[in-house]
Amino acid sequence: MDFIPSPPTITEWSAKARIGGRTVGFVPTMGALHEGHLDLVHRAKALCDHVVCSIFVNPLQFNNAEDLRHYPRQMEQDRALLAEAGCDALFAPEKEAIFAQFTPTTYDLGGLDGFWEGPSRPGHFQGVVNVVERLFHFVRPDHAFFGEKDRQQLTIIRHVGRDQLWPERIVPCPTVRAADGLALSSRNARLSLEERKQATVLHRALLHAATSAFRNSVEETSKAALETLSTVPEVRLDHFGIADVDTLEPLTAWGKRTEAVALVAAFVGPVRLIDNITLRR
Ligand code: AMP
Repeated sequence: MDFIPSPPTITEWSAKARIGGRTVGFVPTMGALHEGHLDLVHRAKALCDHVVCSIFVNPLQFNNAEDLRHYPRQMEQDRALLAEAGCDALFAPEKEAIFAQFTPTTYDLGGLDGFWEGPSRPGHFQGVVNVVERLFHFVRPDHAFFGEKDRQQLTIIRHVGRDQLWPERIVPCPTVRAADGLALSSRNARLSLEERKQATVLHRALLHAATSAFRNSVEETSKAALETLSTVPEVRLDHFGIADVDTLEPLTAWGKRTEAVALVAAFVGPVRLIDNITLRR
């Protein structure tokens, strides 16, 4: 696997990789890689001729300095994991290289940041989109792979991609979970053993919502999930809600929908975790 720290070199690498109509798949990450990230790499390998993964802890998307400071960093281990997964190149730029001659853009997010993570993390999604655009600009991939674990991020990137006519095809990938249901996340590494156990209530609550949604109203379904969440009082809820799958707008009634999504965010110890599940009716 090639290790590429500089933006011009990754652009050259990618141009060479695309010769003869071959395709480049791209997996942007912030490192501290786990099976969820590696699943994205495997999917990219299945669909594309060459795969680039980036590791860049994007300061623009942290609205909390403590969270940024404590964000896990383990470059050597990540490098070995990616090589083993068959990734062809690791793009790991310094902050200075990413932000050289950079003027932040305020993107039209179509109001998609008006709920869920948006109000809790002001500026977060603008920070994500600015850096995704920057990474796309350097890597110039054909396909880019994003996890449904970050459902609102995926929805916003797809929206901006369509709006800005980004040529990259955005490929959504299902959430990878631990055996006990907890969605894999780099932040899980910061949980104590006890907190790690407490955190599993998030997935239980989402499953409860999914079961309830078959027969019950939106209100009853929310109530079922909230009841489950309240069984572990150490888990401090930030938000739980049910939304339209496409617009992520909060729902109070199913209407004619056959699908919706339940989203949750909560603090477990010092860590803020998010998760979501598709509800089928
Ligand atoms: P991050 O390093 O947390 O910024 O994540 C990089 C990419 O991996 C994003 O597209 C995430 O949605 C995705 N991702 C993170 N955790 C998971 C997971 N458990 N399952 C699937 N994709 C994930």
